[in-house]
Amino acid sequence: MSRTVHIIGGGLAGLSAAVDLAGRGVATVVHEATDQAGGRCRSYDDAQSGMRIDNGTHILLSGNTAALGFLARIGAMKLVKGALQARFPFSDLALNRRWTLDLGTGRLPLWMFDRRRRAPDTLARDYLALARLMWPAPDQALSGMMSCKGPAYEQVMRPLLLAALNTEPSEASSDLVRAVVNGSIAQGGGACRPHLMPLGLSTAFVEPAMAYLKNRGGVLHFGHQLRRCAVAADRVIGLDFGSCIVPVGPQDAVVLAVPPYAARSIIPQLQAPDEFRAIVNAHFRIVPPAGVEPMLGILNGTAEWIFFFEDRISATISGADRFMQHTKDELARMIWQDVRRVADVPAELPPWQVVRERRATFAATPSQNARRPGVRTAWRNLALAGDWTATGLPATIESAVRSGARAATFLMHS
Ligand SMILES: Cc1cc2nc3c(=O)[nH]c(=O)nc-3n(C[C@H](O)[C@H](O)[C@H](O)COP(=O)(O)OP(=O)(O)OC[C@H]3O[C@@H](n4cnc5c(N)ncnc54)[C@H](O)[C@@H]3O)c2cc1C
Repeated sequence: MSRTVHIIGGGLAGLSAAVDLAGRGVATVVHEATDQAGGRCRSYDDAQSGMRIDNGTHILLSGNTAALGFLARIGAMKLVKGALQARFPFSDLALNRRWTLDLGTGRLPLWMFDRRRRAPDTLARDYLALARLMWPAPDQALSGMMSCKGPAYEQVMRPLLLAALNTEPSEASSDLVRAVVNGSIAQGGGACRPHLMPLGLSTAFVEPAMAYLKNRGGVLHFGHQLRRCAVAADRVIGLDFGSCIVPVGPQDAVVLAVPPYAARSIIPQLQAPDEFRAIVNAHFRIVPPAGVEPMLGILNGTAEWIFFFEDRISATISGADRFMQHTKDELARMIWQDVRRVADVPAELPPWQVVRERRATFAATPSQNARRPGVRTAWRNLALAGDWTATGLPATIESAVRSGARAATFLMHS
């Protein structure tokens, strides 16, 4: 009898599981609650700004091998723009100065020893604090393992780690910080080249993945929100979508690839992260002035990163819970002030949109990290996936894609 795997959730974890399984010749059915796939990594037409926008500008690094492998597999690498060098220009709005962190291409961290390639007012030894992290130690807040003060921390480590963890780094899990450092800076500049998706997230990640699945006979159902699993002994035997119940045959299996709060409503006894951090993104419809860098780190501003695309300027604020009380209008104006400080743009706001994702990622703290479940559940044909499962990484595309592939491998061997 042929086998069907039902994938619940059409975010990147679900799509990664489906693509992996479809590539092995397994029949896949993706059930997505909303009317589009992509989850927290999606694009949509926005009437206010008159643009197709992403819920948030996403960045990958060249060291994100699973995410880039996924894009290669679905034929989407041409939709990704990878920088040739691991260079991160910064503008410090308080001190009115610009400088560039240039990690080079080699494995050795020679940049630390060259003052033109590291942050101002820092010495090579300031960065060696990161080496202390490499010693095994129980998971704890980063501030328990190294000093979270000083120019090297404030200008380099904090901005890079905040972007990767979406959590104030001093309170973040040292295990997750170690994983980020191990997958990037510790491997040298070659692993740190930033990659952007200038044509949008859905164009790069979602549409090619859906085409890959359809070409292999995969089925996608939208507006299918799983309410409950029917179980018998150690197996799931049915999926209750409210309007219909889909039987799960003896050979069949299920990947639950929904966010943690949705997973807990389906499996109430599941332990999962329950604290989240917000991300704010602003998009401005304007052609940027010539000569700007594609991506600029901002210190001492409202925005943390400003991205200059061909047809728009976007800005990101991570760990943005403190801004949730501001109106979108206030945020657009505050962020536009930052853009004006770093680029030659008019004072008047261009058409804009601000996207506030309140539960953008789980809080990457030690206590939340300890609540992440593995792939296995009490039911042998039900596997878990999602950026919040125990991948050892913070909630990122890399984590989501790896979790999906892991769920697929688990089910192939169960
Ligand atoms: C604003 C923002 C910026 C980000 N920036 C970056 C970045 O720069 N780099 C990076 O690597 N990562 C970034 N991330 C994180 C990245 O987007 C996520 O890690 C990744 O998209 C999570 O994928 P997922 O499949 O695990 O979860 P989700 O994307 O949440 O997918 C879950 C899917 O399940 C569906 N669903 C929920 N309940 C049900 C149900 N009961 N039945 C059926 N379907 C259901 C949802 O609708 C959703 O489509 C960012 C996230 C946000 C929000």
